[in-house]
Amino acid sequence: MKQGTLFTKTRREAPKDEVAKNAQLLIRGGFIHKEMAGVYSYLPLGLRVFKKIEEIIREEMNGIGGQEISLTTLQDKSVWEKTGRWSEEVIDVWFKTKLANGSELGLATTHEEPLTALMREYISSWRDMPRYVYQFQTKFRNELRAKSGIMRAREFVMKDLYSFDRSEGEFKEFYERCAQAYMRVFERVGLGGMTFRTFASGGSFSKFSDEFQTVCEAGEDTIYLSRKKGIALNKEVYNDGVLKDLGLSKGELEEVKAIEVGNIFPLGTRFSEAFGLTYKDEKGKEHPVIMGCYGIGLGRLMGTVAEALSDSKGLVWPRSIAPFDAHLVELGGENEEVRKEAAELYKDLTEAGAEVLWDDRDARAGEKFADSDLIGIPVRIVISSKSLAEGKFECVERATGKTEHKTAGELIEELRPRT
Ligand code: ATP
Ligand code: MG
Repeated sequence: MKQGTLFTKTRREAPKDEVAKNAQLLIRGGFIHKEMAGVYSYLPLGLRVFKKIEEIIREEMNGIGGQEISLTTLQDKSVWEKTGRWSEEVIDVWFKTKLANGSELGLATTHEEPLTALMREYISSWRDMPRYVYQFQTKFRNELRAKSGIMRAREFVMKDLYSFDRSEGEFKEFYERCAQAYMRVFERVGLGGMTFRTFASGGSFSKFSDEFQTVCEAGEDTIYLSRKKGIALNKEVYNDGVLKDLGLSKGELEEVKAIEVGNIFPLGTRFSEAFGLTYKDEKGKEHPVIMGCYGIGLGRLMGTVAEALSDSKGLVWPRSIAPFDAHLVELGGENEEVRKEAAELYKDLTEAGAEVLWDDRDARAGEKFADSDLIGIPVRIVISSKSLAEGKFECVERATGKTEHKTAGELIEELRPRT
């Protein structure tokens, strides 16, 4: 893509009321647009990152047997009354609306109720399970504080998976597989080594749930972490009894701020019992289905990468989710030879399957480099009269600043998608 045709432009300043670093950088880079507090639109660069994150999660969820669906975000009040969760005392972040005839509807905060009701039509026998169903769908939550940019939005897309199993054993086996798939997701988006599976409060059906917490100063959560043992606990379950159960001592745990990028939760039979979602075993005996839910916020994850990997010059994307693989920066494009060389390299790289943003704008070198640093594409390739003379291009790795000189052939090999 030619940068000169991109409708967004970089900005020197983020809106004054935007306090979160992730949103400041993403707005300045032209990735997102702030509609109002906690409500953000995704622009071409931002949507490319978002879609790559989505695809990584999709691959991992399909890999553990997930089947993708898309439920509605307009929700039937009566379904929510079955579990008592229509009440604003139980779910305090509801957005609700009304039909023309006055009947009330909910805007999805989550989807346990409608999905459990739906699955009643398809699950009745032991032969119908296990089943794992997921979606990428918008959630609306009237969050009290929306000061963390896209990490805590009032409208956001969540990947939510729901498991339907016949026994506690079958459920636990899937739960562990999903936990491992989550760790692969966080590794693949660039948060490996700083994201920890974390004991958190479990609600009524089990002692714990599991959160996935990325260590980061901007986090809203406090966790206690042993990097050595790879164990972490959320502050909400940090007490002497739990420490004893887990064989941990206070001295080996460090207190850090962290961002909850995902969580997985045993639901037991709470929802299946409320909706009469049961199955008959081989002997014809009826049992409630055992359920679990598994969430990842895509914007939360993208914002976390923006927070955790950026530096004083701007965003730093790992290649797996970068909006483009390479940033071709042409300097002195009024020189016809330079322009020709840039066009050729752009064509060769693109044909090899690399995604390239070509800065073909008529602007000063300093401005182009500053923009390139802010946008954060993993490698910058400079084309100028100098590279023309050398037959090699200056390549700067965004994350490290490491500079090398490479031929077109070397670049094509390096940037060709790895299969
Ligand atoms: P939190 O404690 O941060 O409010 P939660 O416990 O409400 O999170 P869930 O309802 O379990 O979270 O949602 C699953 C995942 O969705 C979270 O782990 C997080 O990644 C994401 N998420 C939750 N709320 C938001 C939000 N307001 N904006 C963006 N992502 C969110
Ligand atoms: Mg919440």
